[in-house]
Amino acid sequence: MKIWEHWQNRIQHGFKYGFRQGINLLIPPQCPGCHAIVHDDGLCGQCWSRIKRITPPLCIQCGRGFPYAAGIERCVRCLTQPPDFDRAIAGFGYNAMSRRLILGLKYAKRHDVTPAIARMMANAGGECLQEADWIIPLPLHWTRYYQRGFNQSAELAHAIIKSAHIPADKYRPDLLKRIKKTESQGHKTRQQRQRNMQGAFQVTDPGGSIKNASILIIDDVLTTGASLSSAARCLKKAGAKHVAVLLAARVG
Ligand SMILES: [Zn+2]
Ligand SMILES: [Zn+2]
Repeated sequence: MKIWEHWQNRIQHGFKYGFRQGINLLIPPQCPGCHAIVHDDGLCGQCWSRIKRITPPLCIQCGRGFPYAAGIERCVRCLTQPPDFDRAIAGFGYNAMSRRLILGLKYAKRHDVTPAIARMMANAGGECLQEADWIIPLPLHWTRYYQRGFNQSAELAHAIIKSAHIPADKYRPDLLKRIKKTESQGHKTRQQRQRNMQGAFQVTDPGGSIKNASILIIDDVLTTGASLSSAARCLKKAGAKHVAVLLAARVG
């Protein structure tokens, strides 16, 4: 490296580092869980300890935890009524702490929680992120997008791609569209949920990118899995070979 390039790099680094340090001195970063002052953009030690970890043994398809290692790969539900996605991985379990983070992300425009959640998702889903040909955020219907002003799944996907150093051209939000405004899934039976989600998604793939592709869908919470299963079904009908889902949190 020439001496001039060396100094150019040093100066650029100095500006960047100094600028960030300056911002941190003016407005110190706060823990997204409790607003305590922290040294980076992550959770404080106390909030971190309240995150519900997901530990094996897990169902290899839906990611649900088994109470004990029974030597089986799939849970009863995946054996009898499997979802249309092949694999589901969550960053953490749903509890009071993760609920606070997710609600902040979704409804309170607390975009400061995004990097912390994304890092946990990137850690949990490292293998799926590397294997995926395309990464797609679960799309919102345009009316919901208009109300909220952003898609929380897309925010997470951007942050995960950055955190896991995934090539940016793997991000393809253009491939899947939500064409039906669905009602809330709460208090519905399994059949009603499936009916509610029927025809909710549409593939928009004029270039044929989906055929034989391995796809990873990013979403915030897995509750019943009906919408993710419906999206996976739609992608598989269009020729996708493998569909995995990466979530911030899973219920149950
Ligand atoms: Zn905290
Ligand atoms: Zn399962």
